[in-house]
Amino acid sequence: MKINVKNVENEPLEICFAKILLNWYEQNKRELPWRNTTDAYTIWISEIILQQTRVEQGLDYFLRFVKRFPDVKTLAKTDEIEVLKYWQGLGYYSRARNLHFAAKQIMNDFGGKFPEEYKNIRSLKGIGDYTAAAICSFAHNKPYAAIDGNAYRVLSRFFGICTPIDTPKAKKEFTELANFVLDKKHPGKFNQAMMDFGATFCTPASPNCNECPFAEKCFAYTNNKVDSLPQKSKKINSKNRYFNYFYIRNNGKTYLHKRTSNDIWKNLYEFPLIETKSEASLNEILGKDFLKEIDFSKCRITESFTKKHVLTHQNIFAKFYIIDFFEHESKILSNFIELNESEIGDYPISRLSEIFIEKLYN
Ligand code: SF4
Repeated sequence: MKINVKNVENEPLEICFAKILLNWYEQNKRELPWRNTTDAYTIWISEIILQQTRVEQGLDYFLRFVKRFPDVKTLAKTDEIEVLKYWQGLGYYSRARNLHFAAKQIMNDFGGKFPEEYKNIRSLKGIGDYTAAAICSFAHNKPYAAIDGNAYRVLSRFFGICTPIDTPKAKKEFTELANFVLDKKHPGKFNQAMMDFGATFCTPASPNCNECPFAEKCFAYTNNKVDSLPQKSKKINSKNRYFNYFYIRNNGKTYLHKRTSNDIWKNLYEFPLIETKSEASLNEILGKDFLKEIDFSKCRITESFTKKHVLTHQNIFAKFYIIDFFEHESKILSNFIELNESEIGDYPISRLSEIFIEKLYN
């Protein structure tokens, strides 16, 4: 990729930065459906989908979501179960729950019109500093720097900032710097340029320094510190969890329950589950919990599938068992939702449960 760098030799570093970045963006910007609009609702949906999700993965979800929920009103009046169904597979389901909640907030507190002021946008559930700044700058060209992981990385490397980016001190420092270098005439374009540059060029593991228009002035590159910037203060340890799922077939019926506690996958549905503190054999869990309600002389139980499912801070070691009843049993698992097996697709379930279903039927 050849970059045409304008002559910015005699200008302060901050001015050079914005000029080089915008020049790079003109030549390399990604064409994305939410880029050609100033509609705050559409921008909001795209930004929430893209949190923790790559553009390639989020694109189809975005298109399907805005087709089904084209405006705040439609989203607000839909049942949460359907919103979660449209989110299924994207992960981080609190994002979908918050979107739904915030749509109702907009209907109740702002007369159904997406707010324009930063502080009002920031007051919506699930919208933090970054998303509020992105919506303000993209939809209304207001001068707020949107600082996501890409911006932290690019700024840290270019300006040589060693403050660990997961600290409150860094938040203040980077916010001040980003707003200082922000092109106040083109804040939306500047923020998009920063995101694209960080996502496609100054990437975490293999930045394209050899062809970078910033290379000559970049602190990290000229001081051989590209691999060590940005810095983080702590390593987050993952927790191991052991899930034993039971898929029950009772003459065309099966069973689900809704996860309602403040844990992963809140408000999603799943097969009857026994969680253990460590890996457990079938014999160790038979007779526990809801399995007490099952008469094992009337059914067969087989281990079907095991999988390690990695989430951001948790490793789920899952075992799926299938329980097949020889004849229809009318009264089993009173605390679960009984449904036809063919209806599972109507319920939002985790990606882990979805993988099991795909294995079972393919
Ligand atoms: S020279 Fe390398 S580290 Fe510096 S901004 Fe460019 S891509 Fe990033």
